[in-house]
Order: sequence, then structure tokens, then C-alpha cells
Amino acid sequence: MVEYLLATDEQRELAELAGQICEKELAPQIKALEAANNGLGAYPWDAHHKLADAGLYAMNVPKAYGGRDLGNVTRAMVMEEISKTDCGFAFSFRGLGDKFDTILNSHISEEEKKAWAERILRGDAGGAFALTEPEAGSDASALQSTAVKDGNEWVINGTKCMINNAGTASYFGVFAWTDKSVSAGKGVTCFLVESDRDGVRIPEPDDMMGLKLMNCGGIILEDVRVPEDHIVGELGRGFSTAMGKLDVARPFNAAFTCGAAQRAIDEAVKYANERKQFGKYIIEHQGIAFKLAELQMKVDAARAMLYYAMEAGDKGIPLGRLASATKAEAIELCVAVAFDAIQILGGYGVRKEYPLEKILRDLRAYTVMGGTGEIQRKIVAKTMMIKH
Ligand SMILES: Cc1cc2nc3c(=O)[nH]c(=O)nc-3n(C[C@H](O)[C@H](O)[C@H](O)COP(=O)(O)OP(=O)(O)OC[C@H]3O[C@@H](n4cnc5c(N)ncnc54)[C@H](O)[C@@H]3O)c2cc1C
Repeated sequence: MVEYLLATDEQRELAELAGQICEKELAPQIKALEAANNGLGAYPWDAHHKLADAGLYAMNVPKAYGGRDLGNVTRAMVMEEISKTDCGFAFSFRGLGDKFDTILNSHISEEEKKAWAERILRGDAGGAFALTEPEAGSDASALQSTAVKDGNEWVINGTKCMINNAGTASYFGVFAWTDKSVSAGKGVTCFLVESDRDGVRIPEPDDMMGLKLMNCGGIILEDVRVPEDHIVGELGRGFSTAMGKLDVARPFNAAFTCGAAQRAIDEAVKYANERKQFGKYIIEHQGIAFKLAELQMKVDAARAMLYYAMEAGDKGIPLGRLASATKAEAIELCVAVAFDAIQILGGYGVRKEYPLEKILRDLRAYTVMGGTGEIQRKIVAKTMMIKH
């Protein structure tokens, strides 16, 4: 069931189709996928291709390049439904597919851009956003990667970490210093780097507590040469591109958490209507009924923030404070829901045959990725400060 009240018929159909494909193709495989690669997990390429065949991948590719050019609201709804099966997969699937702007804003030929679009829309290619480094997390301006001009090429060196789709993407948007004599706002450039270029090395994916279907990890760049036309946007303006991208990307994260938290509630409601203690269904004990009501109210509030932000994004309104407020508040509400939903199932809540412990493991990282809750509070608080 699609929870977004204002959905159009088309949005509802797309979201429901995505949910059905995941329920049929992905859900039965999840345990095996989580256990694959000695517990590091595996990205489900089968489900990825089934969704791509149904036209649900890379839905923001412009029509001029053969895509559907669908907005944030529609894509968020589709991701919510996919997240009801696995919010880590949804995050990676969306991350891979929605990075066509890296290609589009590079200076490669139109022919090359069209060829990339074709591969992407077939589900055979995708991108990643490579900003974070071991010494540059919240403070992204502390990055150390460099790009040095050599004739008509740039030579890139650096180490990226915690990059979603490091091992599954076919190209990266890599941020590196091109001029260290100025600030990051003027001296960092974004480069289109294909994953099969000489000098690109991908270590084993990160071993995380959850998100096992997400391929997240490092990218090592050793004397990687890219032609000049691989600059994305303008030379030296990469940092503002990165920050600008986060404006809608940050609140978009709530789509994954709303879907997963809603699934946790649905499971808890089902259980509470089946489990009897003290001679009645546990939902008939007011303590449980009120707890369930509170969980639903939290996700409804998170969803309202999410779609308010997505709608504003679709209208081209800069989100500013709302981006960070949604990233922090909506996501924390959903993580709290996942934590509390376990309580409804008592001892069964923490057992692996029920999906609730996995939902909590998967959701926990969302308060960090895309910018931590503390940094979002810092951004919101800054809008309230008067210079004295
Ligand atoms: C699953 C996952 C996927 C990710 N995907 C990507 C990706 O695709 N691309 C990418 O570039 N990055 C990605 N990241 C990285 C993510 O953006 C960073 O983890 C995040 O920005 C925080 O950086 P850090 O982990 O180095 O923590 P740190 O910055 O070291 O922060 C540690 C703690 O200190 C707090 N802190 C730091 N500075 C302040 C301050 N000024 N005031 C108050 N508190 C502060 C933080 O909030 C946090 O609690 C991903 C991370 C995860 C976990």
C-alpha cells in the first residue's frame, strides 16, 4: 500500500510495481544475500535488472537522453516501496541510477553522453559520489585527493572511503584539489572517473552492522589519468557542486527510512493482532495500542516532511534549512520507530526469523550517511544566529 495521500495514479502505479517486484524477486533472497561473501553481503543484480526492465531505474534521466525525467516526489515514492523490502538495496539502487548528472555536466561529447544514457537505462551502468576521505568526513573541505594537470590530461591521486556503490558503479564523481592555494570553494574540482581506468583500485566492501545489500567502501586512485573533458561542471567549482547536490539528496534519504519504518510498523501491527497474552490480543492492551499509534504518528510526520521537501525540490525552490531539518528529524523519527517496534514483538522482536532486527540494523546508519544529525543541527542553528 502506498501511504502518500497526494499521489497521482501514475505515481501510485509505479511505486506499487516497484514494491511487487521486490516482494517477488528480492524478498526470498535476502537472507542468502546478507550472508554472501562471508557476511559482507552482496548487491542483488537480478532484482536490479528486473526493476530496470520495468523502467524503474535511473528515472531522472532527461527525456532528451531517452529517460523518463521523473521528479523527486515520484522517485521518493518508488524508493519508499522498495525500502519496505530492503532499504540498503533501495539506497544503492537509487544511488547508482540517479547520477546521470555527473555525465551530463561533464564535457565529453554528446555522442558519448548518449551512449552512457543507453547503458544506464538498460540497467548496465551506474554512478557513485566520491567525496568522503579518511580525514575528511563531516569536514569535507579537509579532503586530500589531488588532480595535477599534465598536458591534456589530469592525474588524480587519493583515497576515498565509505562510498556507496564503490564496487558496483561504472563511474564516479571524484572530488580532488586542483588548486591548493585557494579555498575549497575555488580549488576543488569534480572529475568523471570511469571505474575501469588504470590506477583505480576497489578494496573489499565495508563490513557494516547492516545494509548488507549495499556495496559501500573505498576507492583508491593511483596516478589515474583522465582527459580534460572529464571535468564535471567548472574547474575549481566542485565543492559548491557537491554541496548543491546535497540539498535534495539529504532529505531524499527519508524516503528509504520511511519505507523501512513503515514496514516495521506493519509487522508489529500484524503481530499485535495475532499474539494473545492475558486472554486477549496484545493490541487490545492499551499500552500496546497507544505505542503502535505513536509509531504510526512518527512515520506520518516524517513522511510529511519528506514530501514537503521533495515537492519544493521539484519546484526548484532551494530547500536551505528544510533539507537539513528533514535529514535529521524525519530520519531520527524512523530510527526510533524501528527501535520501538521490536518491543511490540517481545522476545521475538530480536530474533532473526522476524524482519525487525534487520530493519533496525539497516536504518541505524541513516543518521550518519549524507551528513550526520549533528551537522544538520549545526546548519539549522546557523540560520537562527544573528551576527552580534
Ligand atoms: C553507509 C554509508 C554510506 C555513505 N555513502 C557515501 C557516499 O556515497 N559518498 C560519500 O562521499 N560519503 C559517503 N558516506 C560518508 C558520510 O557522508 C560520512 O560518514 C559522514 O559525513 C560523517 O563523516 P565521518 O564518518 O568521517 O564522521 P566524523 O566527521 O568524523 O564525525 C564523527 C562524529 O563527530 C561529530 N562531529 C563532527 N564535526 C562536528 C561538529 N562541527 N559539531 C558537532 N559534531 C561534530 C559527527 O556528527 C559524528 O557524530 C557514507 C557513509 C555511510 C556510513
